[in-house]
Amino acid sequence: APDPEPPYLAGLNEPQRKAVLTTEGPLLVLAGAGTGKTAALTARLAHLIATRRAWPSEILAVTFTNKAAREMKERVGRLIGEAVEGMPWLGTFHSIGAKMLRRHAELVGLQSNFTILDTDDQLRLLKQLIQAEGIDEKRWPARQLAGLIDQWKNRGLTPAEIDAGEAEPYANGAGQKMYAAYQARLLALNACDFGDLLLHPLTLLRKDREVLELYQRRFRYIMVDEYQDTNSSQYLWLRLLAQTRKNICCVGDDDQSIYSWRGAEVANILRFERDFPGAKIVRLEQNYRSTPHILGAASGVIEGNSQRLGKTLWTEMDAGEKVRVVGVWDGPEEARTVSDTIEGLHRAGEAFDDFAILVRAQFQTREFEDRFIQIGLPYRIVGGFRFYERAEIRDALAYLRLVAQPADDLAFERIVNVPKRGLGDKAVEKIHRLARAEGVPLLAAAAHILDTDELTPQARRALANFIANIARWRDMASQLPHAELARILLDESGYTAMLQAERTAEASGRLENLNELARAMEDYETLGAFLEHVSLVMDNDAAEDDRKVTIMTIHAAKGLEFNRVFLPGWEEGVFPSQRALDEGGLSALEEERRLAYVAITRARHHCTILHAANRRIYGQWTSSIPSRFIGELPEEHIEEESNVGGGASLWRANWADQPDPFRNVERGSGRGPGWQRAQRTSGIGSMAVASPKEAYSPAISMAARPRDDIGLGQRVFHQKFGYGTIATIDGNKLEIDFEQSGRKRVIDSFVTPA
Ligand code: ATP
Ligand code: MG
Repeated sequence: APDPEPPYLAGLNEPQRKAVLTTEGPLLVLAGAGTGKTAALTARLAHLIATRRAWPSEILAVTFTNKAAREMKERVGRLIGEAVEGMPWLGTFHSIGAKMLRRHAELVGLQSNFTILDTDDQLRLLKQLIQAEGIDEKRWPARQLAGLIDQWKNRGLTPAEIDAGEAEPYANGAGQKMYAAYQARLLALNACDFGDLLLHPLTLLRKDREVLELYQRRFRYIMVDEYQDTNSSQYLWLRLLAQTRKNICCVGDDDQSIYSWRGAEVANILRFERDFPGAKIVRLEQNYRSTPHILGAASGVIEGNSQRLGKTLWTEMDAGEKVRVVGVWDGPEEARTVSDTIEGLHRAGEAFDDFAILVRAQFQTREFEDRFIQIGLPYRIVGGFRFYERAEIRDALAYLRLVAQPADDLAFERIVNVPKRGLGDKAVEKIHRLARAEGVPLLAAAAHILDTDELTPQARRALANFIANIARWRDMASQLPHAELARILLDESGYTAMLQAERTAEASGRLENLNELARAMEDYETLGAFLEHVSLVMDNDAAEDDRKVTIMTIHAAKGLEFNRVFLPGWEEGVFPSQRALDEGGLSALEEERRLAYVAITRARHHCTILHAANRRIYGQWTSSIPSRFIGELPEEHIEEESNVGGGASLWRANWADQPDPFRNVERGSGRGPGWQRAQRTSGIGSMAVASPKEAYSPAISMAARPRDDIGLGQRVFHQKFGYGTIATIDGNKLEIDFEQSGRKRVIDSFVTPA
């Protein structure tokens, strides 16, 4: 009798088996969503180990997230009935790169205990270099340079390899030079950034024959999941490592390539066949995840793309429910509709972790979070911060808190120099000392220090301006709706301008979040009530329970599946995003369409798409147009429910013959109306400022406590000005005739008896 089939093959279909059993030579598994690509790759890993074709340590397996790596490792363990020991090379490109780099750090000029910088560290470093070079950081922000350097690293380019003729957008062509300076500085610090975890290992493999041969020998088998989202640098790694043995298996789906903004190149799929002649190709066509209606809806949308390889998908699942397309009145109703549905189904026995809400942009989570907290529905935000924990939201809240509550020292510290206004650590430290000495809040101490010469003239001006602004905003607070106040405050403080200057996708996401914050404020009567709401929301972390509704971006949901998926905000300008519409090109729109395909195909049995007829944008209600992707859903697979007369049929009736509803919108600027509005309202530097003394609220300035260990005519020492003699005393303010620098006004807590 034939051997019983090994457990890892059980249940696999023919092409999947082929993918598992074709162990030698290059292999490309090209297949649509939910066809069991990841399942086949996992079985293949089990097969290689179970049949002793390789030791675990001789296999390199790349996943897109660390979580996916952990899951794959566990599943392989279950499939072969033993724990997978010594499998160090299973992880993301970055984690594998870090591991490789630690072993050979000295070859690229690092030590093996190098540190990996986070984005904040990276930006701080770049800012120093930008200043040292005398480049105007306001005009040429560090983030822009960071983005450029990252692109180069994703393409596998060291500073020396950048084509001198390459047009580069940073500081009139200073980018390459700054890149070189940055890399040198990183080496001196024994540090590297995220991009270096790809670039340095690539350099190693390219420059050092011994290292290359070591890994070519070691990795008998190489496997890559989500191959369509590899960037050039990663592709070059793979090509080098697989050059001798050629046992490389990549699985992917060109329709799910959604990271081109991070340098991913779908062309790597086409390159594969060219670089590995004789590569076998396996196509999986049976989908095991989704019902026919869900698949039909997803296929209908993706067919709108011209640049695709094309493939067939079928399923044996029962037809199930049609995809629901629900039109609602506005954002709050959207959140209510989803939460009510989830509550109802939960009461009927469905588990919270069966539900996912997948959004196009981070800002969309806010409405859901607020609603869920209000009604006590457990949720988790995956792959990002919860709305009120994001840095820009915390900054904005700090401004508002300081306006509402002048004694809020934490808020003061957070924003006194954000955006940068020339109040460095030294100045802030002085304010701290004075506040401690006088027993007053930082903001009050800051006002007191203005009357002295303790700060440099530049810092003093900046601080006076800051204090005057806070006072002015406090006056406004009693007259303006507080959401309006928030917008004014973000504009006048220069915060909006700071983000606009960055010109990155990330920064425009942050701007969207800030708009969303202002929108959220409109639901509260007073600023105080809103701030209290926020502190309650922030505190809502207590209940740790795995059974939660998942809220995440579509990008983060790649490779995952959920029984029920809700897809809110399918409106022009949200999804497809305004950014993609503004770019105007085909490729940006096609990437949005692939995102729509990824979104729908995350659902197993139920998929609900929502669109609101009205959104509040910059404080004004605007009516929104349903997403063109709704119009692309085949009618036979959807079921429309609309209380406001929107949806696919409306779309077809009104917009179908006008494929680009935004084509008449001011396109010349390259920005849509929202963006222009944001720029118009930004008015930093143009307003008149009241004198800080007048504007300052007397309630928080307080009588100074005179010191008894110093007196008129006494010789004293001051940190900044040296020795001098006290000429006048007015409370805690002294005038001193300094021996070196003449008469100055200082604060008594900064002097000691000589
Ligand atoms: P994506 O493109 O979204 O990453 P995928 O192609 O990697 O999808 P998997 O996640 O591997 O697909 O599989 C989708 C679902 O189908 C999973 O629940 C998996 O367990 C199931 N599945 C895969 N292959 C089979 C099979 N042969 N029989 C039954 N179920 C299967
Ligand atoms: Mg997968």
